[in-house]
Amino acid sequence: MLRHNITLQEFIEAIDGNCISIEHLAKTLDIDLKLAYKLLEKSIKILKRKGKKIKIYKAQCKKCGFVFDRLNPTKCPRCGSMWIEREIICVK
Ligand SMILES: [Zn+2]
Repeated sequence: MLRHNITLQEFIEAIDGNCISIEHLAKTLDIDLKLAYKLLEKSIKILKRKGKKIKIYKAQCKKCGFVFDRLNPTKCPRCGSMWIEREIICVK
């Protein structure tokens, strides 16, 4: 069973000072990806306010190399593949 009641604080602690893929992060925290993306968007605002540097390596299609501009892509618009290398988030 996945957890649904992770706090924003827990999420922020998990990414602060780290470089981690969102997929790995979701697994580590035992939450689903959808929730991870939601918490990520909130965390970015908070961390920026604290003066942290955030770098997000964009998601990429593993089949054709298409780079997704927005977070949480589901399907490649170029080749239709759902095989996606997800975002890596680095917080310093
Ligand atoms: Zn593709």
